[in-house]
Amino acid sequence: MSIRTGKEFVESLRDGRTVFVNGERLNDVTEYPPFRGTVATLASLYDLQHERRGELTYPSPKTGVPVSASFMLAETIEAAEFRARAEEIRADHTLGLMGRLPDFCNAMLTDFMAARAVLGVREARYAENLARYYEECRDRDWCLTHTLVDPQIDRSKGPAEQPDPFAALRLVRETDAGLVVRGAKMLSTLAPFANELWVGPFYPRRAGEEPYALCFALPMDTPGLKFICREAYDHGRSTFDRPLSSRYDEEDALAVFDDVLVPWERVFINGDIEIFNRVLARTPGYAMLQGTIRGMVKLRFLAGLALHIAEAIGRGDLLHVQAQIGELVANAELVSGLVRAATQEVTWGTTRGTPHRSLAATLWVLIPQAQMRAAEVIRQLSGSGLIMTPSENDFANPEIAGYLEKYLCGKNVSARDRVQLFKLAWDMVGEPFGSRQLQYEWFYSGDPYFTRTRFYRSPVTIEFKAMVDRILKRDRN
Ligand SMILES: Cc1cc2nc3c(=O)[nH]c(=O)nc-3n(C[C@H](O)[C@H](O)[C@H](O)COP(=O)(O)OP(=O)(O)OC[C@H]3O[C@@H](n4cnc5c(N)ncnc54)[C@H](O)[C@@H]3O)c2cc1C
Repeated sequence: MSIRTGKEFVESLRDGRTVFVNGERLNDVTEYPPFRGTVATLASLYDLQHERRGELTYPSPKTGVPVSASFMLAETIEAAEFRARAEEIRADHTLGLMGRLPDFCNAMLTDFMAARAVLGVREARYAENLARYYEECRDRDWCLTHTLVDPQIDRSKGPAEQPDPFAALRLVRETDAGLVVRGAKMLSTLAPFANELWVGPFYPRRAGEEPYALCFALPMDTPGLKFICREAYDHGRSTFDRPLSSRYDEEDALAVFDDVLVPWERVFINGDIEIFNRVLARTPGYAMLQGTIRGMVKLRFLAGLALHIAEAIGRGDLLHVQAQIGELVANAELVSGLVRAATQEVTWGTTRGTPHRSLAATLWVLIPQAQMRAAEVIRQLSGSGLIMTPSENDFANPEIAGYLEKYLCGKNVSARDRVQLFKLAWDMVGEPFGSRQLQYEWFYSGDPYFTRTRFYRSPVTIEFKAMVDRILKRDRN
């Protein structure tokens, strides 16, 4: 039990899980053509752990063998910086474009490990279950997906008030073997490529919603567990034509539970609203940090892309172009600085048990805005170049290839290289892959209003208001 290779990861996905996509039930997710590129990317991440073992792993506290740094409980600043550096290396491997790298759920599970005392406050067995599960995932290098939110249906009503109170995932009955659950959860990114599914708290539950206050984990091939994927973005185009969709489409799925049995040893919260609503506030913020590190890497990539485009069309010397690209670089640098500071916050949360995650929360507000701005700049800099991107087949056709070379070349760049660059940009800002990137960044950490209103209630907001009171009072006296 140690870090897995890419090959072992791929083999582990051939487990008979129930996954539907485009009307078809897949026998083997690794053989479905639109998934192959992503499976290969994820496999390369597992291989990377072997290639850069010293930077990406640490000794398992239980067995001493190398395990992923994304499970590390960081009790010192040095340890937090080590795990943050490992997360940056792995995010960089995928240009920050895969939100749910295995690192994300590993970090989330580490959060729960740090806060497990809350789970066991009434019954110790739930905290013990969590600790065992965390060790299993860490030492076996499982890849997790997670699903937290009820299907949208009618958001003006709670889950129990919906026309079908079994639409949102809930408890059906308890048995000697465990809990039987039924309903659905939305979304579950990475589902076809994960080994384990985590179901847990996110938005608070209200009194009366006890059957919906659940936290548990299951292997993906559990009987009755089904995943219905959205249409894949990889339509078989070459990596020249769709450089990102063909490699980094992490997929999203609706998770359906058809009277699924959850064994007791995999249950972490069962109907306790107070624990359900309290536990997240006690987590140090490992998952938040991982998400913001990945976002930082993506902003760097977008700034680099904008610079490439400006140079390829001979606009790099213009002041307004330099100012626009400078703004993107400044945004990426601002985020980098905050990430460095946020790394220290997870240590405080781990050692003091009183998490302080304001910097990571700030980044949840900043990163989507910075990504939107970067996409806007890339579109504005590109002009028609973003659209006039013939395919790889056009370059292979001798009847027209000469015209393409003559009319689509750039400043010091061949037509083929220039078109390849613009195709990369279009995949990032125009294709469904790129559109989802923004939707993901807005929503992965909750809805954008939720991420902002938490600051409305923060103590510093009162301090800011008091500054205004001071001058008002001075003039009144
Ligand atoms: C690409 C993508 C990938 C995702 N991957 C995962 C995943 O892997 N695992 C997972 O668990 N979840 C995932 N999610 C889901 C994510 O957690 C949710 O999108 C997020 O929590 C918001 O919930 P919702 O989508 O149901 O939107 P809603 O909560 O229904 O929000 C829709 C709109 O209503 C507004 N709104 C919300 N509450 C109120 C209110 N009280 N009053 C007025 N307006 C309100 C929101 O601001 C928003 O504008 C993913 C989402 C996306 C887009």
